[in-house]
Amino acid sequence: MFKDFFSALMEGKLIGVKCKDCEEITCPPKSTCNNCGSRNLERIELSGKGKVVSYTATYVAPLGYDGEVPYVVAIVELDEGAWIVGRLDVDAEKADKEDLIGKRVEVYGKEFPTEQFYPDKQRRVVPMFRIVE
Ligand SMILES: [Zn+2]
Repeated sequence: MFKDFFSALMEGKLIGVKCKDCEEITCPPKSTCNNCGSRNLERIELSGKGKVVSYTATYVAPLGYDGEVPYVVAIVELDEGAWIVGRLDVDAEKADKEDLIGKRVEVYGKEFPTEQFYPDKQRRVVPMFRIVE
């Protein structure tokens, strides 16, 4: 049910699950509701739009991510209410100088090189957010 999250993301689509018991939306999809723990879920396509809640620029790479710094990691509140972690498609120095909290964003997927710690053949797709206002 959830295996297509990353392939959908590469097509600019964001998949989540909606709880049939409490209406909570969970994204990325999980097998249980983030709010009530129910397994009574349905797969839904989300708008992929939301706003920046918080972010930080990363200048020192975690092991295996050497070629990717600097980058900006953000928490985004989707219009449907779920919070998701992704990367913000902005220059890290710009992110440090400007206040981007509350900015409207939309999602897309970006595939990164599979680094040394990933099992063979596993794709590494990251939710990216571009600022739209
Ligand atoms: Zn629930």
